Amino acid sequence: MAEVVSPAGILPHIPDDLTLAQFILDAEHVRKPVRKTGAWIVDDQSGRKIGLEEVSLRARTYGLANALSIRYNIQEDHVVLIYSPNHVDYLVAAWAAHRLGAAVSGANPLFTVDELVYQINTVKAAVIITHPDSLNVALASAHAAGVSADRVILFDVEGADTAQRVTVELLVSQGLASVPNFTERKLAPGEGKTKVAFLNFSSGTTGRPKAVAIPHYAPIANVIQLATHHKVGEDYAGQRFKPGDVCCAVLPLYHIYGLVFNAHYAFFCGLTVVLTAKYNFLEFLKSITRHRITHLMLVPPHIVLLCKHPAVKSYDFSHVRYITSGAAPLSREVMEQLIQIFPNADLGQSYGLTESCTVISTWAVDKRCDLSGGAGQLLPGIIGRVEKPDGTLADFDEPGELVVKTQALALGYANNLEATKETFVNGWLRTGDEVKMNRQGEIVVLDRLKEMLKVRGYQVAPAELEGCILDHPDVTDTCVVGIQDEYSGELPLAFVVLRPEPAKRVEESPQAADEIKASIMKHVADNKVGYKKLAGGVEFIVAVPKNPSGKLLRRVLRDKAREMRTKPKAKL
Ligand code: AMP
Repeated sequence: MAEVVSPAGILPHIPDDLTLAQFILDAEHVRKPVRKTGAWIVDDQSGRKIGLEEVSLRARTYGLANALSIRYNIQEDHVVLIYSPNHVDYLVAAWAAHRLGAAVSGANPLFTVDELVYQINTVKAAVIITHPDSLNVALASAHAAGVSADRVILFDVEGADTAQRVTVELLVSQGLASVPNFTERKLAPGEGKTKVAFLNFSSGTTGRPKAVAIPHYAPIANVIQLATHHKVGEDYAGQRFKPGDVCCAVLPLYHIYGLVFNAHYAFFCGLTVVLTAKYNFLEFLKSITRHRITHLMLVPPHIVLLCKHPAVKSYDFSHVRYITSGAAPLSREVMEQLIQIFPNADLGQSYGLTESCTVISTWAVDKRCDLSGGAGQLLPGIIGRVEKPDGTLADFDEPGELVVKTQALALGYANNLEATKETFVNGWLRTGDEVKMNRQGEIVVLDRLKEMLKVRGYQVAPAELEGCILDHPDVTDTCVVGIQDEYSGELPLAFVVLRPEPAKRVEESPQAADEIKASIMKHVADNKVGYKKLAGGVEFIVAVPKNPSGKLLRRVLRDKAREMRTKPKAKL
């Protein structure tokens, strides 16, 4: 029966009385390999470095916390929303919020006003910290959500005109020059398990994106799970993560993979993190060599380009020692091509969810590479079980839904008891992923049972797109599904039922069909961030299939879409 207590190692104590900021910046007793000298963060573009020396991360965090307290009265359980690409002060802002007892919610900096307003309202943001490039949308969204414009703060960016606004740099210096206005939020023993640190967004099994309430203990636990799995600090041949290594951070910090694995785990291990604000593939290649990057945490589209782009051939990547791909599936064929380009790298996949506060599995340290297409082995401390649709346990290597128990579990979806009860069941997390698992706790992800699509590693909630498409005047019903795509993983395709009048026009003229499809696609593109656009197309149907109680039979249309892809002219 497929229930496995991870054999990957015994977990050391996980502190439950520290905020994430204290764990990473202050608590000497729990941090082993961390470096006190040298840069923790390097800005890829400007080369600006911050570490623990001079006006350090610690001092910047203190200064910003003090100013947020003085100027905006940020305090216990307020939410600081960060709407920005990666920035050297991104984590300073998060840690400053933690020092005040506040929580942090990161938003995609390309979100439209609609999307950002939804997030501001859901988390009830008290201030918004943004980037000059995102300022206009931030201001429009703040206005629409009733947050006053003077609560929109700017990260400093070289060459950007920030004269009219309060910037983080200004706040840091004001905070450092002022008398302390706050008392550092300390946690009572055990409080780390309930005190919310982050509100990250995920659609979960079904419906629109929801705020996942992540307590301080969860990312701390995941960092310790990863470090134990990788034997960090132990002396073994080919150590995977060690002080002095350098990792790239092209993954966004508003996503859990970037935030926990790529940043906090890297700091814990003493790595320097090279932050990239705007990912551009050719620039990314240059920065791997310029910063002598040793560690690459990536998503499948990055890897597909590394395998296929002709420019890659002109680089020597022999200094790269570790590559992992996560957030979406990657085939064995691509992994095999990748090892040709990075012959000195350990490589394999990592698997996890926002709800599990990042990594559930990654390949074992005794295997240098895992080219099997599998998602690795359960991290230490995690119990995994595979359940069949009837609720019984599957056998080893038999498909079923992965259900896990992990120390890094989120608390649930904020203010959404119903969705929480579906996904978080008696301390277990229903992943909504179909997997098979062997006796060693090694997982192969086979399919996604939940509605969520993954486009270039980003979540797309079909229910959100359906709500948007239903606002189109020609549409009476719709269902969005994913179709496979080599580069993006999946692309959203909308099956649409038209109102009688446009349906008649379509019957009479193929041109009308094309025009209506284009207009629906434009409607989505105008209202949603780029990766949510209907790049899989629009197909008209007579009715959306539903069961007798009215539940949408999404799987029927998903299978139909797969069929259409192999036979493009198939009629519904
Ligand atoms: P997110 O909460 O955005 O990290 O999305 C979590 C979902 O991404 C999981 O439930 C999986 O469906 C998918 N996912 C993450 N890592 C992998 C992987 N290595 N292989 C396949 N799917 C993955």
